[in-house]
Amino acid sequence: MEKQYHGSCHCGAVQFEAKLDLADAMTCNCSLCSKKNAVMVRIPGEDFKLLAGEDQLGLYQWNTKVAKHHFCKNCGIYTFHRPRSAPDKFGINLACLDGVDARSLNPPLLDGASLSLEA
Ligand SMILES: [Zn+2]
Repeated sequence: MEKQYHGSCHCGAVQFEAKLDLADAMTCNCSLCSKKNAVMVRIPGEDFKLLAGEDQLGLYQWNTKVAKHHFCKNCGIYTFHRPRSAPDKFGINLACLDGVDARSLNPPLLDGASLSLEA
C-alpha cells in the first residue's frame, strides 16, 4: 500500500518526503548498488519532495553519466538517485526512511549487473 514517508540522511541535513509502497522494494547487483548495499524503491517524480539540504547534496556519476546518484556531502549517506533508464523517476534509499527496517523487507534482486540499469 502506498504511504507517505519522511526520510533523511544521517546528520539530518538532507530531508525529503516520498510516497511509495514498501512492497516495491528491490536490491540491485550492479557494481555501485552492490557496494552501497541499498534497498530501494523507484517512484515517479511527483511522489518525491526535497524538504531540505539541496546545497548539501553531492552528485556521483559514472559509466554513461546519465544516472544521478545523490548523497549528503556532510555525512556521506546515499539518500536517493535518478535512474538512467528512467531519469524522471527517483530511486529512494529505504534505509533513510523513518520507521522502516529496509533489511526486513526481503527485497528481490534486480539484475542491474547485466542490464547496467542504474549506471
Ligand atoms: Zn547528512
